Amino acid sequence: MKCLDIKMPSDFEEAYALLNSQKKATIIAGGLFLRLQKQTIPLLIDLSDMNLNYIKEIKDGFIIGPMTTLRTIETSNLPSALKDSVKQISGVGTRNLATIGGSICGRYPFSDIDNALMSLNAHLIFYKSGKTSMRDFYHNGLIDKDILIEIVVPKPDFSMIKYYKKVYTDFSLVNVSLAGSDLAIGARPKRSLVVENIDFNSSARKILEDVEFGTDFQASGAYRRALAEALLEDILKERKAFYGS
Ligand SMILES: Cc1cc2nc3c(=O)[nH]c(=O)nc-3n(C[C@H](O)[C@H](O)[C@H](O)COP(=O)(O)OP(=O)(O)OC[C@H]3O[C@@H](n4cnc5c(N)ncnc54)[C@H](O)[C@@H]3O)c2cc1C
Repeated sequence: MKCLDIKMPSDFEEAYALLNSQKKATIIAGGLFLRLQKQTIPLLIDLSDMNLNYIKEIKDGFIIGPMTTLRTIETSNLPSALKDSVKQISGVGTRNLATIGGSICGRYPFSDIDNALMSLNAHLIFYKSGKTSMRDFYHNGLIDKDILIEIVVPKPDFSMIKYYKKVYTDFSLVNVSLAGSDLAIGARPKRSLVVENIDFNSSARKILEDVEFGTDFQASGAYRRALAEALLEDILKERKAFYGS
């Protein structure tokens, strides 16, 4: 990526005006994925000066700032599925730079974080478009350019994510996240998919029977399915132990 100009606004009004001042003006968060793009961006809007790296606990959940780094999430008291989703993302150096906002706005099919947020049924607040669900945004995006200003994450009694990586810090071949009774399956390698209200009396195989798993250069669909079944079986066992039944 080549960048011709960069501005650091001090509030959302200024950031939004800059974003809409030119067609290709773009928000930069950690910049780790943006910099890999082969394009010239005339104006980058860097939100680093706006104190958006925070996690606030509220009565029934958490509010997270979009510039919150993956390392802050890893060392927080957020629900286990979200906290654990970032633990094997590259090294600590990367996790100190990459942000939750960049992960959400990228809508990456492989994303462990997005999959956790899908299972948790998180809500997103955009500056102009207002509130939308993570599930809707992840699949449909937004029509107009906007800025993610907050992420609202509920606090379920039990949540857990498991993923399989060929080597520690690699991208997941599949990831499975349970929050309450909603299950999200991601890196299939297609986008994360949610199965709501799963039947805890069913086997992992039965729960996943209608979920499609695809083949790419990393793994076959059949292998991904077998992995997902094993990961879900583990989660169901741990849930049983958590509730004592
Ligand atoms: C080496 C490496 C390994 C990785 N491995 C994994 C992995 O195993 N699992 C995983 O889940 N992730 C992985 N990631 C991805 C990582 O978790 C982040 O998703 C990624 O780095 C993007 O975050 P960022 O802060 O760098 O965003 P950026 O690259 O800065 O931005 C990404 C996109 O989001 C937009 N954006 C950012 N913030 C906002 C906002 N507030 N409002 C509107 N738009 C916004 C940007 O314009 C851009 O389009 C890896 C990344 C790297 C570099």
